[in-house]
Amino acid sequence: MKAIYRTKDNRISFELTGETPKELFKAISNIQEVFEAESSCGCCQGTVLQYRVREDNDGNEYYELACLHCYAKFSFGQNKKGGGLFAKRYDKDHNRIENNGWRKWEKKQGATNSAPQRQETDDSLPF
Ligand SMILES: [Zn+2]
Repeated sequence: MKAIYRTKDNRISFELTGETPKELFKAISNIQEVFEAESSCGCCQGTVLQYRVREDNDGNEYYELACLHCYAKFSFGQNKKGGGLFAKRYDKDHNRIENNGWRKWEKKQGATNSAPQRQETDDSLPF
């Protein structure tokens, strides 16, 4: 079976194949999880979002959406097997991340150093 699936924002169309309804269901589910995760920024509600992949010095890759208005970022976690991605809405302690998962760089209050500081530490996002 083949299916054409277009994301709800009409930006991307996918051609999917599956031998069974279950396989197609999974394929659509994977697309929705990643490519329909967010249609606007959780911090400023901006709708100009870009998919970005960053690589650190150790070769680890980080998949994220970036808001081109306020520079907030939304991270995707990576499944250990199969190449799957998932929207990160919870931190390591299973607490919901505020702004529906969107985070911004912010200066620490009272900091004399002008270098940007992360709001919270998350070693999966080394900047
Ligand atoms: Zn924004």
